[in-house]
Amino acid sequence: MEFKNIGVVGAGTMGIDISIDLALHNINSVLVDISEEILENAKAEIRRIVRLAPLLDAKLPRMDVDAVLERIKFTTALEDVGNCDFIVENVTEDWKIKEKVYQQLNIICNPEVIFAANTSCISITKIAGAANRPELVIGIHFMNPVYLKKTVEAIKGYHTSEDCIAATKSFLKQIEKTAVLVNDLPGFVSNRISHLFMNEAAFVVQDGVATPAQVDAIFKKCFGHKMGPLETADLIGLDTVVDSLEVLYQSYQDSKFRCCPLLRKMVDAGLLGKKSGQGFYSY
Ligand code: NAD
Repeated sequence: MEFKNIGVVGAGTMGIDISIDLALHNINSVLVDISEEILENAKAEIRRIVRLAPLLDAKLPRMDVDAVLERIKFTTALEDVGNCDFIVENVTEDWKIKEKVYQQLNIICNPEVIFAANTSCISITKIAGAANRPELVIGIHFMNPVYLKKTVEAIKGYHTSEDCIAATKSFLKQIEKTAVLVNDLPGFVSNRISHLFMNEAAFVVQDGVATPAQVDAIFKKCFGHKMGPLETADLIGLDTVVDSLEVLYQSYQDSKFRCCPLLRKMVDAGLLGKKSGQGFYSY
């Protein structure tokens, strides 16, 4: 099975990266968001990333910016994904927003089309409950930045079929990725664990125990991690981290997932991390 035209819903941090990665693998995408302004910003960000990406990884397929942009249709009309043969949904980590998108996709997309949810924490089984094809709903938790990370966390919802898993693996193979397939509970493996790190790191800063640079230095220099938890939070987007902690807290009703007030305060102040130019660090 070869996928030719992918619907990428949500043109934020993840949707942008995914459309770039698809283009680098000669696959067209329809990139959808809710306003022309967001799409213009996405276009500018794509130009910036495509110029920069080969410097980050010399093995990445070479393609000039215009060739990448030619492979992406930018649109505010979700109906434009109607001819796509696979959907990757990357809208805001908010159940109400995601639920509405799936209700619309049910009508727009052919019944055999797979819906891959790129969510940080929301249960795939819950998302499948909003879709009219639960056996064709799967989680693909892409890692950030998508074009540099060759492994994804794939999540099998309660109803996800073996055919859906096989087709998803062949889609991932087209973009040179492999999956670690896990079962479904909110946050899966990666974010159920990593959000505890990021949240506690924010508490450490809030409590005046250490600066962000000191916290991250301990993870990098002592533990050998590539990035520290606060650099990671900035990369993900502090708004998305707060939303994800909220999902985890609501899902497990466990106080260990309560969001650090400092994280909320930073989001309220517009300090969203890399995407806004300021988070725990300046960009
Ligand atoms: P983001 O806030 O950068 O982008 C989300 C985009 O969705 C925004 O541009 C928003 O306008 C758009 N959107 C909202 N409603 C929409 C609608 N009805 N139709 C189309 N677009 C709509 O968020 P992000 O970081 O790109 O995350 C997207 C999803 O991917 C979230 O569920 C998040 O948890 C998940 N995720 C994020 C990361 C990360 O590192 N940021 C990694 C893996 C998964």
